[in-house]
Amino acid sequence: MTYTSALVHDLLREGFDRSPMFNGRIKSLGPRYCPSIEDKINRFADKDRHQLFVEPEGWNTCEMYVNGFSTSLPEDVQFKAMRSIVGFENVKFFRPGYAIEYDYFPPTQLKHTLETKLIDGLFFAGQINGTTGYEEAASQGLMAGINAALKVQEKEPFILRRDEAYIGVLVDDLITKGTEEPYRMFTSRAEYRTLLRQDNADFRLTPKGFDLGLASEKRLRRMEEKREQSENFVQFFKETSISAEEANPVLEAKDSAAVSQQGKMFKLFARPNIGIEDVRKFEAVESYIRSHNPDREVIEQAEIQVKYSGYIEKERNNADKLSRLENIKIPANFDYSALQSMSLEAREKLNKIQPVTISQASRISGVSPSDVSVLLVYMGR
Ligand SMILES: Cc1cc2nc3c(=O)[nH]c(=O)nc-3n(C[C@H](O)[C@H](O)[C@H](O)COP(=O)(O)OP(=O)(O)OC[C@H]3O[C@@H](n4cnc5c(N)ncnc54)[C@H](O)[C@@H]3O)c2cc1C
Repeated sequence: MTYTSALVHDLLREGFDRSPMFNGRIKSLGPRYCPSIEDKINRFADKDRHQLFVEPEGWNTCEMYVNGFSTSLPEDVQFKAMRSIVGFENVKFFRPGYAIEYDYFPPTQLKHTLETKLIDGLFFAGQINGTTGYEEAASQGLMAGINAALKVQEKEPFILRRDEAYIGVLVDDLITKGTEEPYRMFTSRAEYRTLLRQDNADFRLTPKGFDLGLASEKRLRRMEEKREQSENFVQFFKETSISAEEANPVLEAKDSAAVSQQGKMFKLFARPNIGIEDVRKFEAVESYIRSHNPDREVIEQAEIQVKYSGYIEKERNNADKLSRLENIKIPANFDYSALQSMSLEAREKLNKIQPVTISQASRISGVSPSDVSVLLVYMGR
């Protein structure tokens, strides 16, 4: 790892007037989360150095990737600045940094299946939809591919909801809100991230994969076994009591308040500073583990279900409440212009996006809760 310096920044600044990103030849917005070095110097002018990671390009090459130094400044400026970085005094170039500009199609022109609304049978996935990122491209490719295949087979489309998968959030964001800058999927964009966990990805998606013919029966059975075993383990904690004498030494060791009488283990395990290693000190738990021999994933799943059950349940209720709006469908090609009690902006946006459900309509920017009420009345609710 090395750093830029005030000297390096001064040298780079000399090239700003020749940079296509600065002199206006390139007008696009760069990806917010991976700014070029000139962008960083400009936007974070108070910093006198920036971190650079020097990453080998492979086992059998002396070529290094200078992570953190992406740039579209003129080659001579890059080279001079680079040689002024500590450790890079004798550096040689394979090729200079460069900027690329992409065009994209506004993704609001797509259906949830990623099929274009205008051209039947044409599906778009990846960077063409205004996203950036490997996973963003890969997941859209998967969804577009599945739906193209289903369409050819005249089967029902495959759509993941926002409370079922990050893919659901990604696709819904893109087609409902569009994007003005390279879109990245962040967990913070998902309102139901307590439900969308890595540890339950198999519970959420393996049955769907199996139905589509994309996951084997063996895989489905393994998932079902894991689910059953972890549910049984959770049930054990709910049903099994523990005496105060056995519980208190373990609780005290973890600065957790002592109990005065016998109680269910579930309540103790749910305490914030009590983990699986602590409850394993109870004879009944150790004996359960000895006789049932659950694997690591089952134990972890049970622990999550016990510790976060309150939060998970609350989130599930919220999602179910909203999914009622998800079930109220809006007829295709609905004409919003006639709904005078709705704001003009909402009517314009709704006409353009043509949401499929009331819930999708509510997520369009510029559509207010009162516009949604008007729509609900109109749909007879
Ligand atoms: C330098 C760089 C670094 C990046 N680093 C990261 C990173 O660290 N992490 C990350 O997540 N993302 C990164 N990205 C972004 C990520 O690589 C892209 O968003 C993603 O690969 C886009 O995938 P895609 O399949 O949509 O498009 P592409 O991978 O661009 O695929 C489009 C394909 O279509 C082909 N094609 C084009 N026109 C035609 C035609 N007329 N006929 C037939 N084929 C055609 C092209 O040759 C290409 O193979 C980086 C991008 C760049 C440029």
